[in-house]
Amino acid sequence: MPLYEFECSKCGHRFDRVLTLSEVETVKVTCPQCRSAKVKKLMSAGTIKTGWDGYAGKVQ
Ligand SMILES: [Zn+2]
Repeated sequence: MPLYEFECSKCGHRFDRVLTLSEVETVKVTCPQCRSAKVKKLMSAGTIKTGWDGYAGKVQ
């Protein structure tokens, strides 16, 4: 299962969550430190690489 990195907009705490593709759309991720729901998903290096490869494939 893919690992997602999140950053809390309230306290700035960063944490990782393992979520399936369906879970990441439906599960409400909250900060484990302050319990705020205002968290944003960070782009991992793996995600960026995959996106770039997909884009290059479409261009060619
Ligand atoms: Zn927090």
